Amino acid sequence: MNMIAKKFPTAAFIDGEWINSVKTFSVTDPATGAEVAAVPDLGAEDAVRAVDAASRALPLWSAKPAKERAAVLKRWFDLVTAETENLAQLMTTEQGKPLAEARAEIAYGASFIEWFAEEGKRAYGRTIPTTMASKRYLTIKQPIGVVAAIAPWNFPVAMITRKVAPALASGCTIVVKPAAETPLCALALAKLAEDAGLPPGVLNIVTTDDAPAVGKVFCDDSRVRKLSFTGSTEVGKILYRQCADTVKKLTLELGGNAPLLVFDDADLDVAVAGAMASKYRNAGQTCVCANRILVQSGVYDRFAAALVDAVGKLGVGPGMEPGNAVGPLISAEAIVKVETLVSEAVSKGAKVVAGGEIAPAGPLFYSPSVVVGVTPDMSIVREEIFGPVAALVRFNTEAEAIQLANDTPFGLAAYLFSRDLSRAWRVAEKLDAGMVGVNEGIFSNEVVPFGGVKESGLGREGGAEGLEEYLEVKYICLGAIDA
Ligand code: ADP
Repeated sequence: MNMIAKKFPTAAFIDGEWINSVKTFSVTDPATGAEVAAVPDLGAEDAVRAVDAASRALPLWSAKPAKERAAVLKRWFDLVTAETENLAQLMTTEQGKPLAEARAEIAYGASFIEWFAEEGKRAYGRTIPTTMASKRYLTIKQPIGVVAAIAPWNFPVAMITRKVAPALASGCTIVVKPAAETPLCALALAKLAEDAGLPPGVLNIVTTDDAPAVGKVFCDDSRVRKLSFTGSTEVGKILYRQCADTVKKLTLELGGNAPLLVFDDADLDVAVAGAMASKYRNAGQTCVCANRILVQSGVYDRFAAALVDAVGKLGVGPGMEPGNAVGPLISAEAIVKVETLVSEAVSKGAKVVAGGEIAPAGPLFYSPSVVVGVTPDMSIVREEIFGPVAALVRFNTEAEAIQLANDTPFGLAAYLFSRDLSRAWRVAEKLDAGMVGVNEGIFSNEVVPFGGVKESGLGREGGAEGLEEYLEVKYICLGAIDA
């Protein structure tokens, strides 16, 4: 087993027990293809056991004052923070991102634990002025109950903490199915939660290579009152349908197709820096990555040249080696998808001006690329690229830019670059997106609501909104006040 993986558990975690299984699946390092660890390949029955455990743990956990739950979460935050270096190395090993980005994700992921530990104490209800002399009205907020979470591989820590922390802070218990590519970070988080004193059954981690079977258990079980999913729109739609029979609450963080608009009046240095941060972070494998870079005619050529310059400075190679800004993609399929999108664009008239090929570092490394002359009909701007390729589309007017930006079933993130305050405000209001970065390429943090509109999903994670997702409002009417 890999050295860093040895420091953390490789067994699943159900009801406070570390569970091994004869059947396992391999976790590999995408930079080298080497096996990092083998983890239990659990099935539907284990998923049921995890839901049983979460159900049993619910009454005691939900009855605790929020302050007591917060104390456990704060210890968890401290332990995660203290383990930053080891966790970051584990993340780079199973996911591939550069170590500096992995460290940043540990801080980002931990910040949700700290934030929701605090927010959990502020689950205020309301008193509502009465309409009848004999009655009084008020609301209280209560935890939804047992939650199931299904997480992706691109942010193996943060996508879990931003579901688990608000669930636990509000008094819910939770069963998590991490992505098969990156289960080790989830298990490491669970170990630290156990060390922080989290009672058995409150957090359970079901590792599996059979996501549909485990996912079906979560959806069908009426004890699970909420499903929180981050992943593809395709799978999100399956889960949405499967949850209909038990009428579950859903948070869905699905795919995006983020437009990044650069207007003639933009500060080009700021725009290039924003595009670089948004596009090439995590080798382009984030759901808020700029997928379509729409540039106004007056600055198109200069912006493209500056972007090519900046891209040329990115080191490409294993995330564990210092100096590399772009690591491997997660899988061979991801490489095929990027190659197919680029070659289709080129066949329709686009031109590769940087990259456009597998990098010398290895078969899963794709050179940071810039493609110009992209038109709105090309798949490269209609589908999520999920790779380090910037596709530049030219536009002439503000109205055209907005029309192009909104011409997609998705609506997660959007970015615009302009020094004209009126334009920035006007365009930000008109973009169909859950989040808009104005002169900014990175906007996620724990205190703000993250989420999308249209087919990018339902609900918000982070911020005050992120807690509400795990709470039900109960209205209480007091009668016979004047009896
Ligand atoms: P990605 O393309 O990012 O891997 P997916 O939507 O396929 O996106 O995966 C996100 C998460 O959903 C992963 O944990 C994966 O195992 C899980 N998943 C995939 N298919 C299903 C399914 N049919 N039911 C439940 N979970 C699924």
